Amino acid sequence: MNDFKALNQRQKDGFAQQQRWLKQVLAGKLVNCPSCQQTISADRQGELLHLHCCKGCTDVVLTLG
Ligand SMILES: [Zn+2]
Repeated sequence: MNDFKALNQRQKDGFAQQQRWLKQVLAGKLVNCPSCQQTISADRQGELLHLHCCKGCTDVVLTLG
């Protein structure tokens, strides 16, 4: 349970930061994962945009349109 709490806390702390890099990705810029510093990849699948780094610490799905 401690791990679960820590994960939630990390996601909460990272929310504002995530909003910043999401805007950069959507603007077509290359952005590094704030956790592992690997480049975040964007895969578009229909109306879904899947943003993820190779280690999986960043894994976000956005709905477009
Ligand atoms: Zn990462």
